[in-house]
Amino acid sequence: MRSTLILSLVSILTLNSCDSKAQKKEEVFAVEKPDSVWQKELSPMAYRVLRKAATEPPNSSKLNREYRPGTFHCGGCGAPLFDAASKFDSGSGWPSFDRPLQNAIAYSTDYDLGYARTEEHCANCGGHLGHVFADGPRETTGMRHCINGAALKFIPK
Ligand SMILES: [Zn+2]
Repeated sequence: MRSTLILSLVSILTLNSCDSKAQKKEEVFAVEKPDSVWQKELSPMAYRVLRKAATEPPNSSKLNREYRPGTFHCGGCGAPLFDAASKFDSGSGWPSFDRPLQNAIAYSTDYDLGYARTEEHCANCGGHLGHVFADGPRETTGMRHCINGAALKFIPK
């Protein structure tokens, strides 16, 4: 009887310590600014996408039809994110890439549409970019990085 009680106490204590360890750790980015500063610096659409995770209407970005050689940068902090060579026409109405530049992107899971999607954001400033899906070109990576043009800045070579 007594040992059972002790065991229960031990498991309660263990559970509690697990709980405190499971506290959500906020991501920390190299570029962090107060929301009011982002709002001043960005266009209204770029702010809504990058900072509020909105999605631009399909076919609304002129970058959708941008196929010159160059680099797509984060519209928030300017970090290089995608090489133009990785861009392809997915027919979705959003700029699409089969791979990002190395270490440029960080990922999370969102359930905004009621099912799990892999959200992607700039690893340097945390700005929301879009989502990644596993229905990209099979002959390369098989991945489709579906990115809001409003979150990007294109710099031609
Ligand atoms: Zn950024």
